[in-house]
Amino acid sequence: MAGRPEILFALFAGLDTLPGIGARTAQRLGGLDIATPRDLLFTLPHSGIDRSRRATIREVTPPCVVTVEVAVRRHLPAASKGRPHRVQVSDAEVDFELVFFHARGAWLQEQLPTGHRRLVSGRLELFDGVAQMVHPDHILPPEEAGDLPGFEPVYPLTEGVTQRVMHKAAAAALARAPDLAEWIDPALMAREGWPCWRAALKAGHAPEDMAALSPDAPARRRLAYDELFAHQLAMALARAAQRRQRGRAVRGTGALQRKVLDALDFTLTAAQERTIAEISADMAAGTRMSRLLQGDVGAGKTLVALMALLIAVESGGQGALMAPTGLLARQHYDSLAPLADAAGVRLDLLTGEDKGAARAAKLEALASGAMQILVGTHSLFQRDVTFADLRLAIVDEQHRFGVAQRMELGAKGAAADVLVMTATPIPRSLALAQYGDMDVSQLDEKPPGRRPIRTALVSAARLEEVVAHLRDALAAGRQAYWVCPLVEESESVDLTSAETRFRHLRAALGEGVVDLVHGQMPAAQKDAAMARFDAGETGVLVATTVIEVGVNVPNATIMVIERAESFGLAQLHQLRGRVGRGTAESTCLLLYAPPLSESARRRLQILRETEDGFRIAEEDLAIRGAGDLMGTAQSGLPRFRVADLERQTGLMALAQSDARALLASDPRLASERGAAARVLFWLMERDKAIRLLRVG
Ligand code: ADP
Ligand code: MG
Repeated sequence: MAGRPEILFALFAGLDTLPGIGARTAQRLGGLDIATPRDLLFTLPHSGIDRSRRATIREVTPPCVVTVEVAVRRHLPAASKGRPHRVQVSDAEVDFELVFFHARGAWLQEQLPTGHRRLVSGRLELFDGVAQMVHPDHILPPEEAGDLPGFEPVYPLTEGVTQRVMHKAAAAALARAPDLAEWIDPALMAREGWPCWRAALKAGHAPEDMAALSPDAPARRRLAYDELFAHQLAMALARAAQRRQRGRAVRGTGALQRKVLDALDFTLTAAQERTIAEISADMAAGTRMSRLLQGDVGAGKTLVALMALLIAVESGGQGALMAPTGLLARQHYDSLAPLADAAGVRLDLLTGEDKGAARAAKLEALASGAMQILVGTHSLFQRDVTFADLRLAIVDEQHRFGVAQRMELGAKGAAADVLVMTATPIPRSLALAQYGDMDVSQLDEKPPGRRPIRTALVSAARLEEVVAHLRDALAAGRQAYWVCPLVEESESVDLTSAETRFRHLRAALGEGVVDLVHGQMPAAQKDAAMARFDAGETGVLVATTVIEVGVNVPNATIMVIERAESFGLAQLHQLRGRVGRGTAESTCLLLYAPPLSESARRRLQILRETEDGFRIAEEDLAIRGAGDLMGTAQSGLPRFRVADLERQTGLMALAQSDARALLASDPRLASERGAAARVLFWLMERDKAIRLLRVG
């Protein structure tokens, strides 16, 4: 299919081709991200107003919206400037007033001619015992009363765009919606009781009551499903394209893994066993692995990564592990090197600090195959690095990357399998949205024997007590992180507060004891400060949020977070995860500036209740919403117009399994349903995905 199907042309025409929509309105609609009639179709009313007819206002209790037919009795024009123009009316039983400010009397006479009947609808209120309707929303002659629906949809608005304009525009767009062939599995449609696409749009724009506006209403669920299905089908196509690239069957002997396991003084958790088995099976298959390993901080991902790397080595090839920063690469290296030693495997570290001859020697060992596992930063893949036979690339993610970036990564490593690790638990519906092209392994169990972290909320007024507590802990040989407030999404502002706190703590606790790290330091300086803390040379590390990811200093048992209420839940969870890594009891102090808002209290309370990252992520989603949680812009997560990822959580999984099933039975989307799905791609502006279809 070369281009957009003709049946959709009218929906992608300019907005000003709609009757009654001029160039200016068309431009203003841009404020709602509406550029085409298609966008209007998917901009549904978010609420509604009950305009059911009453015989008399006596039936209702003000303040409330009421719709009633009245006889116009008398106009009382404004007595002076600034006073309202009032119109006395009576319904079947009661007299009341319509009130207008700044209105022209002549116009009002035209709208409400004395002695005539009118249907009026608006908000009725009581002033000094007199029922008044100020600026009715609607005034209609009785013969036009049918134009006003009993339940009036309310659309989102933007500067210069009124409800009236939205109604007109939506109706015009709806008139253009064609009948489209069905892309949803008929069995699913029947089971869910979903209407066809066009009927769902009509119902979505013409809700009959509040229930029809709910995310559970069949029409809304269907339209949401269309978006999710298009997204998942695009992801499934990417996955299929990736799997079609010839992979290689990489099978280990288990010999090296055995040696490492024997060298450990613990055994694998059941979750580690399971994920290692999932990864082995992928690697042994002839297709390329594209798998996400999701695990909370401290769940033991590093060991799983090593086991996977050893499979590559056992099979006679090489493996690479890439971390987001030099510091984290070094930490991975430090924890893996002794285990690799135990197995007699050659593992090395390559960072930006390797220069000249040392770097050349490492690269040569890599190119010859003598070096079996390489640990480094993400830039490994962009540089002049050549592997003799790379079979597995593991990416430890800091910021999640989008589908496109992952595909690029895959392209570099010839037929290498790809495993992405992330320490940020995300709710299942979002994981499916973002990683729908991958298979997901969850490390959802922590190694036994971890001591719970004591988490307390402390008012900032008690800061000096916290400092005194810190002094005692330092004397007892403990170490602490002190994280400074997230003032804005700006490192420089955060930095000011971190520097101030750094000076304050240095004065209180002693010169050489306190150190500072922040994101604006050169990497080498940052690494040096971290290394001093790691070696126990400093006792308190004041930091902006740069320590959030991956850092591991088991002797650090205290985490102080200032202005904890300004951080997101997931971030607080990540920060807290920096302690509780050793055998000693750990504490996390959440300092806050009272008074706490209700939602801030709720967030901090959740942290006190649980250390389960997955539960925290679900709560975060419920509190903040998906866009905020994922940072839509950089996450690669599309913006859905109808689908509600917080409240329609089950639909995403359904869309994924349905999309994968469709592709399994119809890989070229050549069937009738497949052809309909292609139209859906165009409709949902996912047409790039069509390029991924197998040619020929
Ligand atoms: P993650 O990378 O998932 O945050 P790590 O891999 O750094 O976690 O593991 C955290 C700590 O737990 C490490 O010190 C590691 O040696 C230890 N560990 C890993 N697996 C187990 C296990 N099965 N039993 C006990 N300790 C484990
Ligand atoms: Mg780790």
